[in-house]
Amino acid sequence: MRYATQKRTWKSPGARRFAKAVGRSSPEPAVEHICRKLVKALDCKKPPFQTEKYEYARLYQVPVIENDIYTAGTLSVLNGSFVIEVKKADPPARRSFSVCHELGHIEILRRAFDFSPSSNKCIIDLDFGEEEERLAEIFAVNMLMPRNIFKKKALAKEPSIHSVLELAEEFCTSWDATARRIAETNAWNCVVLWCKPEQMITGRMAVQIREYKTSGNLKWCPCEGRKYVNWGRDLVEAACKGSAVSSGPVSFRDGTLRKPELWQFQCIRNIVTNEGEQNVLAVMVPPRSSSN
Ligand SMILES: [Zn+2]
Repeated sequence: MRYATQKRTWKSPGARRFAKAVGRSSPEPAVEHICRKLVKALDCKKPPFQTEKYEYARLYQVPVIENDIYTAGTLSVLNGSFVIEVKKADPPARRSFSVCHELGHIEILRRAFDFSPSSNKCIIDLDFGEEEERLAEIFAVNMLMPRNIFKKKALAKEPSIHSVLELAEEFCTSWDATARRIAETNAWNCVVLWCKPEQMITGRMAVQIREYKTSGNLKWCPCEGRKYVNWGRDLVEAACKGSAVSSGPVSFRDGTLRKPELWQFQCIRNIVTNEGEQNVLAVMVPPRSSSN
């Protein structure tokens, strides 16, 4: 389980070397700096920044092959050139994200490891760890949803699940990635939750919170330390059927929200992969007094 509210620190030599090579004190601003240049080079002023034509991969002159592979994407070297493979069965937004993730790896390889596909070095021999993976994810997010453009678009919308879906459509990104970007850019005062519906021993439905992300300007999160939210049968069933719903009071299994009637709450079933992986994506918007 991962709580994205934790502060990030970078320890791996690869991530540090990357930041240094770009002339930034830490890897995240280094990624943003490179991505701003990429968006400029793409000559694209508004979303979507990448479609099923894989415009970014074209910019890098790296071929993309849609294939029956087990992971979402892979990067390899063939005859002295990079090649990206993405999982054919994945939805288009996910494939697009995977392509940008692999392009992020190329940037890290070039800058932190001084790697060139035409050299005799083997990618597998390089010390690639969890932090390089995290950086590649940040690359993909910044390529597809550049901070300022994304935030401006999100700010113009009412905080709601419906708006998450609209932004995802506009940027050709997954609902999950879009909702996460809303929270991390502080575009809305909100909590984004990723949950799994479960039937309790009483027969009632509840959702188990798997992960949540709080926008930085929110002073407190109602789900701190809680595992289950009792959304009531109607809500969870509606969410499981795939319709966006909103509700009044939301109660936690071991207590009720402070000022519950003031929280706006919406959820939707989210099919993550074509193999049927799914979660319930929820957005909670606090009463005004909690956010400032
Ligand atoms: Zn990776």
